[in-house]
Amino acid sequence: MRTQVAIIGGGPSGLLLSQLLRTKGIASVVLERRSRDYVLSRIRAGILERGMVGLMRQAGLGERMDKECYVHDGTLIAFDGEEIPIDFKALTGHSVTVYGQTEVTRDLYDAAEADPGRVLTECDEVMPHDLDSDKPYVTFVKDGQTQRIDCDYVAGCDGFHGISRQMIPAEKRREYEKTYPFGWLGILSETPPVHEELIYATSQRGFALCSMRNENLSRYFVQCPMTEKVEEWSDDRFWDELRRRLPAHHAEAMVTGPSIEKGIAPLRSFVCEPMRWGRLFLCGDAAHIVPPTGAKGLNTAASDIHYLFNALVQFYEEADADGLERYSETALTRVWKAERFSWWMTTQLHRFPDQTDFDLRIQRAEMEFLRDSEAAQKVLAENYVGLPY
Ligand SMILES: Cc1cc2nc3c(=O)[nH]c(=O)nc-3n(C[C@H](O)[C@H](O)[C@H](O)COP(=O)(O)OP(=O)(O)OC[C@H]3O[C@@H](n4cnc5c(N)ncnc54)[C@H](O)[C@@H]3O)c2cc1C
Repeated sequence: MRTQVAIIGGGPSGLLLSQLLRTKGIASVVLERRSRDYVLSRIRAGILERGMVGLMRQAGLGERMDKECYVHDGTLIAFDGEEIPIDFKALTGHSVTVYGQTEVTRDLYDAAEADPGRVLTECDEVMPHDLDSDKPYVTFVKDGQTQRIDCDYVAGCDGFHGISRQMIPAEKRREYEKTYPFGWLGILSETPPVHEELIYATSQRGFALCSMRNENLSRYFVQCPMTEKVEEWSDDRFWDELRRRLPAHHAEAMVTGPSIEKGIAPLRSFVCEPMRWGRLFLCGDAAHIVPPTGAKGLNTAASDIHYLFNALVQFYEEADADGLERYSETALTRVWKAERFSWWMTTQLHRFPDQTDFDLRIQRAEMEFLRDSEAAQKVLAENYVGLPY
């Protein structure tokens, strides 16, 4: 087989890149290890920045999203019973869009059905070769047979545990990592959201987030130690803990019901530099991870795709490799800003096991400053709705 761009990983990054390239007549093949159903069963992100929304439309996939999404013009930050409304629209002129990662991925898989062979699922032993030559190729096993794709470029979109990042020689690769001493216990429940916008709440008992997918599907999280087991959290225990962390009137208004999904996820900040090695380009979680506070994971993957897509178009349409040469530097500049914001929100809104009284006072001062300063609210809003590409 031969293609122009071989894409490893059929999550949102890989599928979006392939779909965008298709609009410009650039051939690609996506190699995904799992089945389509498995990828679609992963409940993950839900808040899209305007950049990601624009890319979906550019890829020709805006129709269902525009019909079914919810536009949020603001959010609430709650601390110790007080509430700070952050009006994104008034502060920045922009909003965010509630449309689940599962729906994004479903739209992308459905679109790929028009081109049989563009997305290959259940591929084992995917391995890129000769990335530092001008004739890279990727081998994989499908239906028991080893196959080979020759290509011009390889996009490593295979998430944090994929193989692409490992292809950059250790002496050329620098990894920056921060792990947080807690996780998020999250549930999905078929109940109406407690509030029309998201609530990020910090309290003496720790952080909580009230999020949603639609008017009868809520996504709630509480901060918990990573030593806790999900089996130790009955639905009743979860709802009680969530209510304790919210301002009283929201706690009282909360409609509870059985969880249809429950899990504990670790929180981590991670960046790999560079994001390019020879003809390999890393995108999304393959290159960087953020803690979910601030909803930057999927959105930062989207900005990588924007930069790589435009660089590939520049190369194929104008024979100009400048965008590809500068991809790593350009993408990393925005990645680090998203890392900073996610780290800041996580640090300000969570309780840390080793926090001193001084640290707690500083956290409180930070919240009071946010409450009283429009400039501080603007900084939060500007980052939350998404920095420009
Ligand atoms: C539990 C969880 C909750 C999250 N919640 C949020 C949230 O609320 N908000 C937010 O913004 N972000 C969230 N994120 C982050 C967000 O989901 C990711 O940033 C996003 O999925 C990145 O997309 P990606 O395509 O780069 O990587 P992935 O979605 O990880 O996709 C990578 C794909 O590559 C495939 N793959 C891996 N290895 C190989 C291989 N060797 N060969 C072939 N294929 C391979 C995988 O099966 C996968 O389908 C969450 C992440 C997790 C794990």
